[in-house]
Amino acid sequence: MVGAGQMGAGIAQVAARAGYRVLLNDVKEEFVQKGLGVIRKNLERDVAKGRLTAVEMEGTVARLVPSVSLGDAAGVSLAVEAATENMTVKTAVFRELDRVLPGQAVLASNTSSLPITELAAVTGRPDRVIGMHFMNPVPVMQLVEVIGGLATSQATCDLVVEAAVRMGKTPVVVKDAPGFVANRVLMPMINEAVFAVWEGTATPEAVDAIMKMGANHPMGPLALADLIGLDTCLAIMEVLYRGFGDPKYRPCPLLRQYVAAGWLGRKSGRGFYSYQS
Ligand code: NAD
Repeated sequence: MVGAGQMGAGIAQVAARAGYRVLLNDVKEEFVQKGLGVIRKNLERDVAKGRLTAVEMEGTVARLVPSVSLGDAAGVSLAVEAATENMTVKTAVFRELDRVLPGQAVLASNTSSLPITELAAVTGRPDRVIGMHFMNPVPVMQLVEVIGGLATSQATCDLVVEAAVRMGKTPVVVKDAPGFVANRVLMPMINEAVFAVWEGTATPEAVDAIMKMGANHPMGPLALADLIGLDTCLAIMEVLYRGFGDPKYRPCPLLRQYVAAGWLGRKSGRGFYSYQS
Protein backbone atom coordinates (compact mmCIF):
# COMPACT_ATOMS: atom_id res chain seq x y z
CA MET A 1 0.00 0.00 0.00
CA VAL A 2 1.65 3.25 -1.12
CA GLY A 3 0.35 6.23 0.88
CA ALA A 4 -0.95 5.95 4.45
CA GLY A 5 -3.37 8.89 4.32
CA GLN A 6 -7.12 8.61 4.72
CA MET A 7 -7.56 6.32 1.69
CA GLY A 8 -4.33 4.34 2.03
CA ALA A 9 -5.03 3.56 5.68
CA GLY A 10 -8.59 2.52 4.83
CA ILE A 11 -7.50 0.22 2.00
CA ALA A 12 -4.72 -1.27 4.15
CA GLN A 13 -7.29 -1.92 6.88
CA VAL A 14 -9.74 -3.82 4.67
CA ALA A 15 -6.93 -5.71 2.92
CA ALA A 16 -5.34 -6.83 6.21
CA ARG A 17 -8.78 -7.70 7.57
CA ALA A 18 -9.30 -9.91 4.49
CA GLY A 19 -6.10 -11.81 5.29
CA TYR A 20 -3.58 -10.03 3.06
CA ARG A 21 -0.16 -9.21 4.45
CA VAL A 22 0.10 -5.46 3.77
CA LEU A 23 3.20 -3.31 3.54
CA LEU A 24 2.00 0.18 4.52
CA ASN A 25 4.31 2.71 2.90
CA ASP A 26 4.53 6.49 3.15
CA VAL A 27 7.31 9.04 2.78
CA LYS A 28 7.76 9.60 6.53
CA GLU A 29 7.56 7.31 9.52
CA GLU A 30 5.14 9.70 11.28
CA PHE A 31 2.68 9.42 8.34
CA VAL A 32 2.84 5.61 8.48
CA GLN A 33 2.31 5.67 12.25
CA LYS A 34 -0.61 8.08 11.88
CA GLY A 35 -2.22 5.70 9.36
CA LEU A 36 -1.64 2.72 11.67
CA GLY A 37 -3.16 4.71 14.55
CA VAL A 38 -6.31 5.39 12.53
CA ILE A 39 -6.60 1.70 11.59
CA ARG A 40 -6.17 0.60 15.20
CA LYS A 41 -8.85 3.05 16.35
CA ASN A 42 -11.27 1.81 13.66
CA LEU A 43 -10.63 -1.83 14.58
CA GLU A 44 -11.07 -1.09 18.30
CA ARG A 45 -14.44 0.44 17.48
CA ASP A 46 -15.36 -2.72 15.53
CA VAL A 47 -14.37 -4.85 18.53
CA ALA A 48 -16.43 -2.66 20.90
CA LYS A 49 -19.43 -3.06 18.60
CA GLY A 50 -18.99 -6.83 18.37
CA ARG A 51 -18.16 -6.80 14.65
CA LEU A 52 -14.69 -8.20 15.28
CA THR A 53 -13.10 -10.29 18.02
CA ALA A 54 -10.00 -9.07 19.88
CA VAL A 55 -8.07 -12.01 18.38
CA GLU A 56 -9.14 -11.05 14.84
CA MET A 57 -8.09 -7.49 15.54
CA GLU A 58 -4.63 -8.53 16.71
CA GLY A 59 -4.29 -10.79 13.64
CA THR A 60 -5.26 -7.89 11.37
CA VAL A 61 -2.79 -5.50 13.01
CA ALA A 62 -0.02 -8.12 12.84
CA ARG A 63 -0.48 -8.36 9.05
CA LEU A 64 0.33 -4.63 8.66
CA VAL A 65 4.01 -3.98 8.07
CA PRO A 66 5.21 -0.35 8.25
CA SER A 67 7.54 0.92 5.50
CA VAL A 68 9.19 4.17 4.45
CA SER A 69 11.02 2.73 1.45
CA LEU A 70 9.50 1.24 -1.69
CA GLY A 71 12.59 -0.97 -1.77
CA ASP A 72 10.76 -3.06 0.88
CA ALA A 73 8.17 -4.07 -1.77
CA ALA A 74 10.37 -6.52 -3.69
CA GLY A 75 8.14 -9.52 -2.84
CA VAL A 76 4.79 -7.83 -3.36
CA SER A 77 2.30 -9.27 -5.90
CA LEU A 78 -0.27 -6.44 -5.89
CA ALA A 79 0.63 -2.80 -5.19
CA VAL A 80 -2.16 -0.31 -4.55
CA GLU A 81 -1.07 3.31 -4.74
CA ALA A 82 -3.03 5.98 -2.83
CA ALA A 83 -0.49 8.80 -2.74
CA THR A 84 -1.41 12.46 -3.24
CA GLU A 85 -3.58 13.19 -6.30
CA ASN A 86 -0.76 14.60 -8.42
CA MET A 87 0.54 13.15 -11.69
CA THR A 88 4.21 13.97 -10.95
CA VAL A 89 4.01 12.21 -7.58
CA LYS A 90 2.19 9.21 -9.02
CA THR A 91 4.41 8.72 -12.08
CA ALA A 92 7.48 8.77 -9.81
CA VAL A 93 5.84 6.12 -7.59
CA PHE A 94 4.88 3.96 -10.60
CA ARG A 95 8.40 4.13 -12.08
CA GLU A 96 9.83 3.03 -8.74
CA LEU A 97 7.22 0.27 -8.23
CA ASP A 98 7.96 -1.00 -11.76
CA ARG A 99 11.67 -1.11 -10.94
CA VAL A 100 11.27 -2.87 -7.58
CA LEU A 101 8.33 -5.29 -7.93
CA PRO A 102 8.46 -8.70 -9.63
CA GLY A 103 7.60 -8.63 -13.36
CA GLN A 104 4.30 -10.46 -12.79
CA ALA A 105 3.09 -8.06 -10.09
CA VAL A 106 0.07 -5.83 -10.73
CA LEU A 107 0.28 -2.08 -10.06
CA ALA A 108 -3.05 -0.48 -9.17
CA SER A 109 -3.83 3.17 -8.53
CA ASN A 110 -6.58 4.48 -6.27
CA THR A 111 -6.53 7.76 -8.21
CA SER A 112 -9.84 9.59 -8.25
CA SER A 113 -9.38 10.85 -11.78
CA LEU A 114 -5.86 10.74 -13.23
CA PRO A 115 -5.46 8.79 -16.50
CA ILE A 116 -4.59 5.13 -15.90
CA THR A 117 -3.27 4.82 -19.46
CA GLU A 118 -0.69 7.57 -18.78
CA LEU A 119 0.41 5.98 -15.50
CA ALA A 120 0.74 2.63 -17.26
CA ALA A 121 2.88 4.19 -19.99
CA VAL A 122 5.67 5.15 -17.55
CA THR A 123 6.11 1.47 -16.64
CA GLY A 124 7.46 -1.49 -18.61
CA ARG A 125 4.25 -3.43 -17.82
CA PRO A 126 1.28 -1.37 -19.07
CA ASP A 127 -0.81 -4.56 -19.33
CA ARG A 128 -0.44 -4.97 -15.53
CA VAL A 129 -1.45 -1.44 -14.54
CA ILE A 130 -5.05 -0.70 -13.55
CA GLY A 131 -7.25 1.67 -11.57
CA MET A 132 -8.67 0.37 -8.29
CA HIS A 133 -10.80 3.24 -7.03
CA PHE A 134 -12.08 2.72 -3.51
CA MET A 135 -14.64 5.11 -2.04
CA ASN A 136 -14.26 7.10 1.16
CA PRO A 137 -14.55 5.91 3.94
CA VAL A 138 -13.10 2.66 2.64
CA PRO A 139 -14.22 0.32 5.48
CA VAL A 140 -17.82 1.48 5.01
CA MET A 141 -18.32 1.99 1.27
CA GLN A 142 -19.22 -0.99 -0.89
CA LEU A 143 -18.01 0.09 -4.32
CA VAL A 144 -14.64 -0.34 -5.99
CA GLU A 145 -14.56 1.27 -9.44
CA VAL A 146 -12.10 -0.81 -11.48
CA ILE A 147 -10.61 1.11 -14.41
CA GLY A 148 -8.96 -0.61 -17.33
CA GLY A 149 -6.40 1.52 -19.23
CA LEU A 150 -5.91 1.14 -22.97
CA ALA A 151 -3.30 -1.60 -22.49
CA THR A 152 -4.68 -3.30 -19.34
CA SER A 153 -5.07 -7.06 -19.84
CA GLN A 154 -8.17 -9.08 -18.97
CA ALA A 155 -6.04 -11.16 -16.57
CA THR A 156 -5.07 -8.00 -14.65
CA CYS A 157 -8.70 -6.91 -14.52
CA ASP A 158 -9.78 -10.37 -13.28
CA LEU A 159 -7.10 -10.35 -10.58
CA VAL A 160 -8.13 -6.94 -9.22
CA VAL A 161 -11.84 -7.82 -9.34
CA GLU A 162 -11.06 -10.94 -7.32
CA ALA A 163 -8.98 -8.96 -4.79
CA ALA A 164 -11.80 -6.42 -4.36
CA VAL A 165 -14.31 -9.21 -3.74
CA ARG A 166 -11.96 -10.80 -1.20
CA MET A 167 -11.87 -7.44 0.61
CA GLY A 168 -15.67 -7.60 0.86
CA LYS A 169 -16.27 -5.00 -1.84
CA THR A 170 -18.34 -4.93 -5.03
CA PRO A 171 -16.19 -4.09 -8.07
CA VAL A 172 -17.68 -2.40 -11.14
CA VAL A 173 -15.46 -2.31 -14.23
CA VAL A 174 -15.27 0.76 -16.49
CA LYS A 175 -12.90 2.14 -19.12
CA ASP A 176 -10.34 4.89 -18.70
CA ALA A 177 -11.73 8.41 -19.30
CA PRO A 178 -11.35 11.70 -17.36
CA GLY A 179 -12.94 11.25 -13.93
CA PHE A 180 -13.98 7.68 -14.89
CA VAL A 181 -17.67 7.42 -13.92
CA ALA A 182 -17.97 8.09 -10.17
CA ASN A 183 -16.25 11.48 -10.14
CA ARG A 184 -17.38 12.56 -13.59
CA VAL A 185 -20.91 12.46 -12.23
CA LEU A 186 -20.29 13.41 -8.58
CA MET A 187 -17.70 16.19 -8.80
CA PRO A 188 -19.54 18.61 -11.13
CA MET A 189 -22.43 18.44 -8.63
CA ILE A 190 -20.08 19.35 -5.76
CA ASN A 191 -18.52 22.13 -7.88
CA GLU A 192 -21.99 23.49 -8.68
CA ALA A 193 -22.83 23.47 -4.95
CA VAL A 194 -19.69 25.59 -4.35
CA PHE A 195 -20.85 27.99 -7.07
CA ALA A 196 -24.21 28.35 -5.29
CA VAL A 197 -22.33 29.45 -2.14
CA TRP A 198 -19.87 31.66 -4.06
CA GLU A 199 -22.67 33.48 -5.86
CA GLY A 200 -24.52 34.04 -2.57
CA THR A 201 -27.49 31.94 -3.64
CA ALA A 202 -27.41 29.85 -0.47
CA THR A 203 -25.36 29.05 2.62
CA PRO A 204 -23.49 25.69 2.78
CA GLU A 205 -26.07 24.54 5.35
CA ALA A 206 -28.94 25.42 3.01
CA VAL A 207 -27.33 23.73 -0.02
CA ASP A 208 -26.71 20.56 1.98
CA ALA A 209 -30.20 20.53 3.53
CA ILE A 210 -31.77 20.90 0.08
CA MET A 211 -29.78 18.02 -1.43
CA LYS A 212 -30.31 15.75 1.60
CA MET A 213 -34.05 16.25 1.81
CA GLY A 214 -34.71 17.06 -1.84
CA ALA A 215 -32.58 14.44 -3.56
CA ASN A 216 -32.44 11.92 -0.71
CA HIS A 217 -28.62 12.07 -0.54
CA PRO A 218 -27.25 10.74 2.77
CA MET A 219 -24.85 13.71 2.96
CA GLY A 220 -24.99 17.16 1.42
CA PRO A 221 -22.47 17.89 -1.37
CA LEU A 222 -20.45 20.37 0.71
CA ALA A 223 -20.19 18.10 3.76
CA LEU A 224 -19.11 15.40 1.30
CA ALA A 225 -16.54 17.76 -0.27
CA ASP A 226 -15.10 18.41 3.21
CA LEU A 227 -14.89 14.64 3.76
CA ILE A 228 -13.20 13.99 0.42
CA GLY A 229 -10.78 16.91 0.88
CA LEU A 230 -11.15 20.18 -1.03
CA ASP A 231 -7.67 19.81 -2.57
CA THR A 232 -8.71 16.42 -3.98
CA CYS A 233 -12.00 17.91 -5.26
CA LEU A 234 -10.09 20.72 -7.00
CA ALA A 235 -7.58 18.28 -8.50
CA ILE A 236 -10.44 16.18 -9.93
CA MET A 237 -12.17 19.24 -11.43
CA GLU A 238 -8.88 20.27 -13.07
CA VAL A 239 -8.58 16.78 -14.60
CA LEU A 240 -12.15 16.96 -15.98
CA TYR A 241 -11.57 20.51 -17.25
CA ARG A 242 -8.30 19.65 -19.00
CA GLY A 243 -9.32 16.14 -20.04
CA PHE A 244 -12.51 17.15 -21.84
CA GLY A 245 -11.46 20.73 -22.71
CA ASP A 246 -15.00 21.78 -21.90
CA PRO A 247 -15.64 24.99 -19.87
CA LYS A 248 -18.57 23.36 -18.10
CA TYR A 249 -15.97 21.68 -15.86
CA ARG A 250 -14.23 24.92 -14.75
CA PRO A 251 -13.49 24.74 -11.01
CA CYS A 252 -15.34 27.34 -8.94
CA PRO A 253 -12.99 30.20 -7.91
CA LEU A 254 -14.18 29.79 -4.30
CA LEU A 255 -12.93 26.17 -4.33
CA ARG A 256 -9.52 27.42 -5.53
CA GLN A 257 -9.49 30.05 -2.78
CA TYR A 258 -10.31 27.57 -0.02
CA VAL A 259 -7.51 25.28 -1.16
CA ALA A 260 -5.08 28.22 -1.41
CA ALA A 261 -6.03 29.19 2.16
CA GLY A 262 -5.31 25.66 3.37
CA TRP A 263 -9.01 25.11 4.16
CA LEU A 264 -9.08 21.54 2.93
CA GLY A 265 -12.08 20.19 4.84
CA ARG A 266 -12.04 17.69 7.68
CA LYS A 267 -8.37 16.85 7.36
CA SER A 268 -7.31 20.45 8.04
CA GLY A 269 -10.08 21.17 10.56
CA ARG A 270 -11.83 23.69 8.32
CA GLY A 271 -13.59 23.62 4.98
CA PHE A 272 -17.19 24.60 4.34
CA TYR A 273 -17.70 23.58 7.98
CA SER A 274 -15.42 23.66 11.06
CA TYR A 275 -14.21 20.47 12.71
CA GLN A 276 -12.75 20.01 16.18
CA SER A 277 -9.88 17.54 16.24
P1 NAD B 1 -4.19 12.09 1.83
O1 NAD B 1 -3.62 13.44 1.64
O2 NAD B 1 -4.98 11.78 3.06
O3 NAD B 1 -3.01 10.99 1.76
C1 NAD B 1 -2.02 10.96 0.79
C2 NAD B 1 -0.80 10.29 1.40
O4 NAD B 1 0.15 10.00 0.36
C3 NAD B 1 -0.07 11.20 2.41
O5 NAD B 1 0.08 10.51 3.63
C4 NAD B 1 1.28 11.47 1.74
O6 NAD B 1 2.35 11.61 2.65
C5 NAD B 1 1.43 10.20 0.90
N1 NAD B 1 2.42 10.33 -0.17
C6 NAD B 1 2.68 11.39 -0.99
N2 NAD B 1 3.68 11.09 -1.82
C7 NAD B 1 4.05 9.81 -1.57
C8 NAD B 1 5.05 8.96 -2.09
N3 NAD B 1 5.86 9.35 -3.06
N4 NAD B 1 5.17 7.72 -1.56
C9 NAD B 1 4.36 7.30 -0.57
N5 NAD B 1 3.40 8.08 -0.03
C10 NAD B 1 3.25 9.32 -0.51
O7 NAD B 1 -5.03 11.80 0.51
P2 NAD B 1 -6.20 10.70 0.30
O8 NAD B 1 -7.50 11.36 0.48
O9 NAD B 1 -5.88 9.47 1.07
O10 NAD B 1 -6.04 10.45 -1.27
C11 NAD B 1 -5.08 9.56 -1.78
C12 NAD B 1 -5.49 9.11 -3.17
O11 NAD B 1 -6.78 8.51 -3.12
C13 NAD B 1 -5.59 10.25 -4.20
O12 NAD B 1 -5.18 9.77 -5.44
C14 NAD B 1 -7.07 10.55 -4.19
O13 NAD B 1 -7.50 11.13 -5.39
C15 NAD B 1 -7.64 9.16 -4.02
N6 NAD B 1 -9.01 9.09 -3.51
C16 NAD B 1 -9.40 9.95 -2.52
C17 NAD B 1 -10.71 9.87 -2.05
C18 NAD B 1 -11.16 10.79 -0.94
O14 NAD B 1 -12.37 10.84 -0.69
N7 NAD B 1 -10.28 11.48 -0.26
C19 NAD B 1 -11.61 8.93 -2.56
C20 NAD B 1 -11.16 8.05 -3.55
C21 NAD B 1 -9.85 8.15 -4.03
